[in-house]
Amino acid sequence: MERTFSIIKPDAVERNLIGSIFQMIEEAGLRIVATKKIHMTKAQAEGFYAVHSERPFFNSLTEYMCSGPCVVSVLEGENAIKRYRELMGATNPEQAAEGTIRKRFAQNIEANAVHGSDAPETAAVEISYFFNQLEIVG
Ligand code: UDP
Repeated sequence: MERTFSIIKPDAVERNLIGSIFQMIEEAGLRIVATKKIHMTKAQAEGFYAVHSERPFFNSLTEYMCSGPCVVSVLEGENAIKRYRELMGATNPEQAAEGTIRKRFAQNIEANAVHGSDAPETAAVEISYFFNQLEIVG
């Protein structure tokens, strides 16, 4: 069993897509073991995306991530990290495969509906950035 971290980003929450995205996650066989709605501050978004701090899109990305509420979740399953990345689809929705969340719901390369951890180390850091152990019920 593996855990990964997911964000339903502000563009998708704004368009009432929480239920549709949760449905895709559950139908893919991943279990939602923790979830909550939050509204990040700029500083929290900057901390979360610190690895991208030198990238040209950093300021725009962190502004967007605190522009409205998000839904953060912990997902569990075998190979959860890789399976959720596949379900999300490519960062740029123009390159996302049919049947992926981003193909269905992303608006553009920034407002691309969801985030998912890319490796076990980042999943652990990202989960603990938003959840404590008592909030995760497997
Ligand atoms: N992003 C962006 N412009 C880019 C690349 C990425 O605005 O040229 C945003 C986008 O929201 C993406 C996030 O930055 O999801 C993190 O980028 P990463 O390369 O880690 O993509 P992901 O792992 O989310 O597919």
